Amino acid sequence: MSASGSADLLIEGVGKRFGDVVALDHVSLQVAQGELLTILGPSGSGKTTLLKVVAGFETPDGGRVTVGGTEITALPPAKRDIGMVFQNYALFPHLSVAANVAFPLEMRNVAKPEIERRVAEALAMVELKGYEARLPRQLSGGQQQRVALARAIVFNPRLLLLDEPFGALDRKLRETMQLEVRRLQRRLGLTTIFITHDQEEALVLSDRIAVMNRGTIQQIATTTEIYERPANDFVADFVGESNIFHGTMSAPGTVTLDGGRALQVRSDRPAGAKVGVLMRPERFAPSGANAFGGEVIESVYLGTSFKLRLACDGGLELLVRQPARGTLPAAGTRVTVGIDPESIHVF
Ligand code: ATP
Repeated sequence: MSASGSADLLIEGVGKRFGDVVALDHVSLQVAQGELLTILGPSGSGKTTLLKVVAGFETPDGGRVTVGGTEITALPPAKRDIGMVFQNYALFPHLSVAANVAFPLEMRNVAKPEIERRVAEALAMVELKGYEARLPRQLSGGQQQRVALARAIVFNPRLLLLDEPFGALDRKLRETMQLEVRRLQRRLGLTTIFITHDQEEALVLSDRIAVMNRGTIQQIATTTEIYERPANDFVADFVGESNIFHGTMSAPGTVTLDGGRALQVRSDRPAGAKVGVLMRPERFAPSGANAFGGEVIESVYLGTSFKLRLACDGGLELLVRQPARGTLPAAGTRVTVGIDPESIHVF
């Protein structure tokens, strides 16, 4: 899905400082109608601050936020028509499930029969029919988060903002909820920003990912683009497992790494260009145009794969993943692996 030309949410040059801390440094991005954009970044990178600016809980020092062509930068939160879900559910503990979900509709003075209809519909969507009378404390964490989701979508919001909503759930439940949110978001065509520091979650859920670090956006691209063609060291390292090296293009299609080793690559960067080289661990095979001999210094069995750390001849250290077949190579074993030029990303 392309954001250009059909931006539903437009963030332009937004900055925010807290004293000496630059939480957001001229951040610009667009989210298309019906798109789910994930903001992925480490703790403290500015993700929540950006979401708060969109929701109206923080006033930016500069820049603009526009939704559907209307600027909302100065609008109070209650006037923004935005549904939100946070990590710590934030349900009203003394209100029933139905009353929690009805709350945004009551705030909007929706008529009672209409409230009942829409609460029932929202609870059906999150598969909580029959739970209307329960109190939040009588629900599991996953169920509470479903109620929070129902409350966020019940008033047909203009935007949905999700800030690490599954952070407190165990892995299995988190995976189920990720798929449910994705299904619901697609079905309702909701323009959505999802925040996480979990790269797997970002890859599973998103149309596009914006990778943030230190208040700046490092790259905005589709999930495959982010994984296969990261723009810089930070993105390559933060998303997925990686072997990152630096070197110089010594001839067309050849990089000489800083340690002296030559690699055949697919790149039209000119000779003399300083480049970064990314080799994903799973891209290595028993043989390939670039061969590496080395000794296993660490090996881990991961069910479907073996993860090996190799000390290669010439001084390179490589992380390699192989399908788990036969016995796990023990430390000290000599192995050879290879990688083809098209499996190496040059940036
Ligand atoms: P996390 O994943 O840990 O929630 P984040 O990426 O959401 O992190 P933010 O919460 O946006 O990061 O914080 C960005 C930076 O701004 C951090 O250095 C943080 O300490 C700082 N910051 C955020 N809110 C405030 C505040 N109200 N006062 C002072 N500093 C703040």
